[in-house]
Amino acid sequence: MARYKDEQCRICRREGQKLFLKGCRCYSDKCSVTRRNYAPGQHGQKRTKLSEYGTQLREKQKTRSFYGVGEKQFRKYFEMASNKKGITGTNLLQILESRLDNVVYRLGLGVSRPQARQMVTHGNIEVNGKKVDVASYLVKPGDVIAVREARRNNPVIKENIENGSKRPVPEWLDLDSKNLSAKVVRAVSREEIDLPVEEHLIIELYSK
Ligand code: SF4
Repeated sequence: MARYKDEQCRICRREGQKLFLKGCRCYSDKCSVTRRNYAPGQHGQKRTKLSEYGTQLREKQKTRSFYGVGEKQFRKYFEMASNKKGITGTNLLQILESRLDNVVYRLGLGVSRPQARQMVTHGNIEVNGKKVDVASYLVKPGDVIAVREARRNNPVIKENIENGSKRPVPEWLDLDSKNLSAKVVRAVSREEIDLPVEEHLIIELYSK
């Protein structure tokens, strides 16, 4: 089904940014954003000036795409962030970063968030010694995330670790690559979230 083959790349082209949804290809010259940096579709090359609402909406969609989160779940995260003390935008990003699939990606066990998500849903990961196959599970400081004993020979995980990640493991996670496990040392700070997201636009959108 060629139509669906480049669906993830179309999302990047729509946002005009690399969202790193495909792993190695994203770092190569084959990346669709590198080759065709304009929106997909017949009118993709037309320049359109976005309204204030359009800018806010695109920022929200881009952030959803980065983390692979559906609209309903994303709204739920916004409400959780609003109810927490502190800056809502920072809270929102911290919640998204705490998702188990994101943590698996940040540890370099998966080359992309979609691959990391698959690793979780296929039952390869445990948290504090118990299998967790829910990608949206939110980790907290002190949690220990590991590849399950029975899955340690998973060739994909082995290859990802052996090849070394192109992304350094962030300091809020303490990776033990020999034992394929990691501890969440502390909550991630805003400065450590390297995504080009202007979270205040998302908050403005939801606050209308
Ligand atoms: Fe495709 Fe990855 Fe490039 Fe996005 S960053 S366009 S997913 S190759």
